[in-house]
Amino acid sequence: AWQRVKRRLRAELGEDVFASWFARLELQEVSGGVARLTVPTRFLKSWIESHYLDRVLATFRSEADGIESLEVGVRGAMAPARPGAAALTKPVPGPRPAASPASPAAELPEPERAARGNAPEGELGGAPLDARLTFESFVVGRSNALAHAAAERVARHDGGPALYNPLYFHAGVGLGKTHLLHGIGHAVKNAGRRVIYLTADRFMYGFVNALKTQSALAFKEKLRAIDVLILDDVQFIQGRSIQAEFGHTLNALIDAGRQVVVAADRPPTELESLDERVRSRLAGGLVVEIGTLDEALRASILQSRLEAVRASHPAFEVGPAVAEYVAKAITANGRDLEGAVNRLLAHATLTGAPVTLDTAETAIRDLVKNREPKRVKIEDIQKLVASRYNVSRSDILSERRTAAVVKPRQIAMYLSKVLTLRSLPEIGRRFGGRDHTTVLHAVRKIEKAIGEDTALCDEVELLKRMLQD
Ligand code: ADP
Ligand code: MG
Repeated sequence: AWQRVKRRLRAELGEDVFASWFARLELQEVSGGVARLTVPTRFLKSWIESHYLDRVLATFRSEADGIESLEVGVRGAMAPARPGAAALTKPVPGPRPAASPASPAAELPEPERAARGNAPEGELGGAPLDARLTFESFVVGRSNALAHAAAERVARHDGGPALYNPLYFHAGVGLGKTHLLHGIGHAVKNAGRRVIYLTADRFMYGFVNALKTQSALAFKEKLRAIDVLILDDVQFIQGRSIQAEFGHTLNALIDAGRQVVVAADRPPTELESLDERVRSRLAGGLVVEIGTLDEALRASILQSRLEAVRASHPAFEVGPAVAEYVAKAITANGRDLEGAVNRLLAHATLTGAPVTLDTAETAIRDLVKNREPKRVKIEDIQKLVASRYNVSRSDILSERRTAAVVKPRQIAMYLSKVLTLRSLPEIGRRFGGRDHTTVLHAVRKIEKAIGEDTALCDEVELLKRMLQD
């Protein structure tokens, strides 16, 4: 359960926040409803206690039953309360303490099983909804307006067969898919209808578990007895029996007029790990892409995050110039925006000084540097590749199939896939109206060739750098 708590914190708070504050947080023991956690330094202890205790507790409670409170101690500095506890503070031998069978976490009773009890959600491994991720806190802008409208309609729909089935969202990381899905979940729940939110992980885990305990039939029946099934990150669903089961579940729900809502990091046609029939079923409802956040949207999301944080830290002030700088600088996604707000807050709290442009720049430097690859245009890729291979751009777009043209064309398609956010069909269109399967073929071919041919690998790497600088 503890590993899941950590995984969820990482997913919910983002890689950066997690790495800064939680990576070295460890579970020492659970007894009498108190979970004792440890960190290596006093500073981490006080930081986690003052900013994240409620969050960690809430997450822990939703993963494990019977936890009443948390205590955070400093590893090594703690006087053992009982003789037995002393042993647990010692580092556990082995490369990864938490994964070692001798680790305290492994000695936990199985709160998990107990927690699941007879609650239908629990048995299905339905993940709890994050109270923060609601329609109210979702900021609507150009790139997500359609997705938001579809989400609201589906959530507010009552009675009668489902509207768009399935409703399928796709977008890159941090663009609000999970937020919208939770928003739907809350709204459906509040309307008194039955909803289950599952990540692909949970779905697979639930199903495998059901098979083990020979309750697969019950699992399926439970899944089918709900009004709305929400499945997040379906690109991770894999494995023959599981994806077949996913297909059956999908068919059963849709045929029964139950609403299915799905999110993934790519359109249904590109879900390579899924069977063709499942893909086409997923594509058969409404497929909506959430685009990248434009600056106006980033600014609004930032404001709403700042306001939310200010509710618990009234002294935290971020002036308009700093806000504008952050919204301009953090272009990648909503998760990084959130990470930036947390950095600013950390800076402000630690130094007690107001957030200036200078401090902001330092605080978010790594987010800006690492996460802001230059937007590469397909046209530029085609031009550069053409000139490197002594062909013309129109050769690349043409129907010609001589080796001298095919290879640069495939490289250009490959680069378009890895350097831009365009989908395969879009790339196909931009390469003289080719089919998406042609693009997929080219991408796979170059991927394979790169793995086998170091000269090509270097060449492609060089092209990438030239395009990104
Ligand atoms: P995804 O599931 O697409 O990777 P998330 O839904 O987890 O992205 O969003 C990442 C973070 O950005 C979350 O904290 C989320 O609340 C925030 N976010 C993204 N889009 C929006 C939006 N339109 N309004 C408010 N917050 C947003
Ligand atoms: Mg997500």
